[in-house]
Amino acid sequence: MSQATTRHETFAQLKGKLLLVGCGSIGQAVLPLILRHLDVSPDRITIVTADSRGRDVAAELGITFIEQAVTRENYRDLLGSHLSAGDFFLNLSVDVSSVDMMLLAREKGALYLDTVVEPWGGAYFDPSLTPSERSNYALRESMLALRRELGKGPTAVSAQGANPGMVSQLLKEALLIVARDTGTSHTQPTTREGWADLARALGLKAVHIAERDTQVSNTPKRVGEFVNTWSIDGFVSEGCQPAEMGWGTHEKGLPHDGARHPMGCDAAIYLNRPGASTRVRTWTPKAGPIIGFLITHNEAISIADYYTVREGEKVVYRPTSHYAYHPCDAAVLSVHELQGNGWQQQPEQRLMMEEIVSGIDELGVLLMGHAKGAFWYGSQLSIEEARELAPHNSATSLQVAAGVLGGMVWAIENPAEGIVEADELDHVRVLEVMRNYLGPVTGAYSDWTPLDRRGVLFSEDIDQDDPWQFKNIRVL
Ligand code: NAD
Repeated sequence: MSQATTRHETFAQLKGKLLLVGCGSIGQAVLPLILRHLDVSPDRITIVTADSRGRDVAAELGITFIEQAVTRENYRDLLGSHLSAGDFFLNLSVDVSSVDMMLLAREKGALYLDTVVEPWGGAYFDPSLTPSERSNYALRESMLALRRELGKGPTAVSAQGANPGMVSQLLKEALLIVARDTGTSHTQPTTREGWADLARALGLKAVHIAERDTQVSNTPKRVGEFVNTWSIDGFVSEGCQPAEMGWGTHEKGLPHDGARHPMGCDAAIYLNRPGASTRVRTWTPKAGPIIGFLITHNEAISIADYYTVREGEKVVYRPTSHYAYHPCDAAVLSVHELQGNGWQQQPEQRLMMEEIVSGIDELGVLLMGHAKGAFWYGSQLSIEEARELAPHNSATSLQVAAGVLGGMVWAIENPAEGIVEADELDHVRVLEVMRNYLGPVTGAYSDWTPLDRRGVLFSEDIDQDDPWQFKNIRVL
């Protein structure tokens, strides 16, 4: 939708105050959308954040800006005074525990949303933790434990940005499209079990969160600099976690370096290596066949868990799901340099925003193994359109901000659901809100498989019988 037709309508009324923790690329990106669509005036918003980034945006918008890092020791005093029943706590920070923030929001009777299940600072690199303990699987399990403990209450949306977030809503719409196009008879799913049954009926074997970011600036990456289109700290942290994926029932064997977790839902496995050094084959409509990093993400696990079919205790169906991320070219070079340097982060960071001169963020879900082969469904937002749609944004940040806005609207409209994940939101309503900021949302079928290698095969261990085995997807 172009700016001319963008509706600045009120999607939901936020009656209380808004506390925003963290004001980096995503915090700044979402503020204009919140002011446009949630009927909240700047004087009811407070930002608490660890550095001065976003101070100018807050000043421009008339929002109170408190520059102070949230810590384990101070968070109750620092944040508690800004929260009461009916308020909204939006957590867009790094290094601040999502689970502790969710608990605080619950105690205060406030609604809550974050875009990732984040631990307190240091956990991603803590050498005393096992790879399993440093995983997103473990972080998600800690969130699920709190959910079981707290039960229903003020809504707290866990991990709702673009991915995790929007992609879970896109996946539901994509499943319905594939069902229609393959003539698969089904009833409209209304429960988790119903959605999982549909995925199984379609023969869905694997889901990639397939992303190709082509945004570039005129300033090349310098030696000793990490360049990206969103949080560099966030990307480096998740890139240094073990690669993780939801592990499907069609997979014939664990990878040689794969392992199951000793506790929890058992929907996912991890590899004994960082995601930023694990590469996978994938496909997006504009880029075609590409190689992405298998960076661990919350949605890889939540999707696999959500789409699990059980007969009694026995798991009889589950798709493999994971991220396959080709970041902007400067970030690929940055990751290469980071790995070469033994994962010691470069001294300089450059988060590209105003300097981007062209490119799109092609971000969607790739559904594989059904009767029509592969189907990608997602957003192809360009930098030009993103700038037309909202200030303080790149294509990447606006997709995330749209997911945050969609999730906030859902939380305000459904205020007593307790802790919920992106897969559980009403995808129709959330997509209706998000579509205003996603640029073209398109679907494309492809006959691509990970076995398409122009005959350039060496003595690789591939499975010709089932192209969608993870061993074919992975680049060894
Ligand atoms: P960023 O690095 O640009 O900004 C992080 C912000 O957190 C900064 O304002 C910083 O001051 C603040 N911060 C750091 N430590 C803090 C502390 N102790 N107390 C308070 N504030 C603190 O990051 P970003 O790109 O804006 O991303 C924000 C979060 O959103 C990250 O957790 C990131 O992983 C997540 N994210 C999710 C998605 C998604 O699609 N789900 C996409 C992008 C980013």
